[in-house]
Amino acid sequence: MATGGWGVTPADVFSDVVGQERALALLRASARRPVHAYLLVGPPGLGQRAIARGFAALLLCPDGGCGTCEVCRRVLSGVHPDLVEVEREGAALSVDDASEAVRLAQRRPLEAARQVLVMADLHTARLAAPVLLKTLEEPAGDTVFVLLADFVPAELATVASRCVRVELAALAPEVLAEALCAQGVKAMRAEELARAAGGSIERARLIASDSHLAERRALWRSVPARLDGTGATAAALASELMESAEQATEPLRARQAEELAALAEEAETFGQRSAPRRKTLEDRQRREERRFRIDELRAGLAVLAGAYGERMADADPQRLSGWATALGAVEEATRELVRNPNETLMLEALLVRLSAVSG
Ligand SMILES: [Zn+2]
Repeated sequence: MATGGWGVTPADVFSDVVGQERALALLRASARRPVHAYLLVGPPGLGQRAIARGFAALLLCPDGGCGTCEVCRRVLSGVHPDLVEVEREGAALSVDDASEAVRLAQRRPLEAARQVLVMADLHTARLAAPVLLKTLEEPAGDTVFVLLADFVPAELATVASRCVRVELAALAPEVLAEALCAQGVKAMRAEELARAAGGSIERARLIASDSHLAERRALWRSVPARLDGTGATAAALASELMESAEQATEPLRARQAEELAALAEEAETFGQRSAPRRKTLEDRQRREERRFRIDELRAGLAVLAGAYGERMADADPQRLSGWATALGAVEEATRELVRNPNETLMLEALLVRLSAVSG
């Protein structure tokens, strides 16, 4: 069970994390005498969940995070009962979500000496901030909070001030490429993937297991040439692009199926009721899938913007303003992507606009 004998290197609880050396050093140092709340701040897709689980393993493992024992393994795969991962139900963390977290925080640990409560998307918790603040100011003894946020909005400054803040940094393409190479991806392909991953290791890994990336990029590049000024072609292309974004989520769905299987196995082994946790996991997976699809569309729009940019570079002066309009429309759609709940309609509207400057 416990390792640490001479010549045996314990497995690293952060082995799934790429980069983030400063953050991990801080968490390791802190795990010996943890405070009651940590706030991990950084753009999505940096492996926040793996970092939070690794930290939880340091806090829950009887050997301080050996990485190999049964506790570590269950914590790292997210199925240990003293690792509580609170997920928002709706588009933002609500007062109800926060109250549920507060209730869970008061619960006594089931197996370990303490419990770790991980709460993602704190930046969406505007209305829930007062509820959380109260708990963070009067912490329950056996609970360590690990809050995750993409950024800290002004309304959450007070909540943030009650936590030890740990900054996470977007990853440079070289770092991503290196990580992919270490996983056996060929150097040239690793560089291409790293450029398409937008600083996110999670996205880089997912698209690395995606053999259709080049085809999808080619599809987006082909848009300006295929638009013929008719609404029918614009609509057909929009649905083709949406289908390809849907296809891109396949590696993600495969990983999600593994997570569900791990949860079912855990429930069987330890005889726990799995239905509520299954629902929580499925909710998270649905949001993850939508976020991934949006990232995929954003990457596609970047390819499309590049295609119009090239046209501008060698256009005759008469066409220049048309291409500039098209490029502006693509950029606008990219900004809109985050708050527009209907990606299909948005894409159709964009292609109709682009259709007007086709050729
Ligand atoms: Zn362990």
